[in-house]
Amino acid sequence: MHKIACHECDLVHDIPPMPARSAACCVRCGSVLFRAKKNSIDRTLAWTFAGLVLYIVAVTYPFLGMKSGPINQQTSLLSGVEQLFNQGIYSLATLVLLTCVLLPLIELLILLFVFIPLKFNLRNKLSIPAFRLLGQIEPWSMMEIYMLGILVSIVKLAKMATIVPGLAVIAFGLLIFVLAFALSAVDHHMVWERLERES
Ligand SMILES: [Zn+2]
Repeated sequence: MHKIACHECDLVHDIPPMPARSAACCVRCGSVLFRAKKNSIDRTLAWTFAGLVLYIVAVTYPFLGMKSGPINQQTSLLSGVEQLFNQGIYSLATLVLLTCVLLPLIELLILLFVFIPLKFNLRNKLSIPAFRLLGQIEPWSMMEIYMLGILVSIVKLAKMATIVPGLAVIAFGLLIFVLAFALSAVDHHMVWERLERES
């Protein structure tokens, strides 16, 4: 049994395992507690693998190319972070490194770490702390804000130099959506139900 509190009236319910596409409603006020998702494990894994491929492209391929007369410069996501460090802008460099490079990777790896054993009915003792950690770092991943910053700087720099967005920008932009799809495919109730049963 998994406990869940009503978002509207705070009444605590014990929820049994739920069939796919069913919804649990509060017995007191009738508001929907949550809906069980269909093929949640498969969909989460599919989006996560797609995200991992996009992540690899986003960190390895050139991010932006800049052409101004004879000067032709290319940066990647990591060399951009390195340049920020070299210029002494440590707080921004750390923020970018954390929210755009490390956290998305950790999120993708935790999803694989938790969902591959679930898919194959294997026991994984560390699934519970890992899944808890995922819930804690989710709000800190702010790739879309960084993407907005990139778009603003492209528009500003376009007056001074020719900006050529690299393959990594496209991969990074897609990764924002794919990671959001992966996280929204997660059926938290089902995951806790399975993890608590196994432990
Ligand atoms: Zn209620």
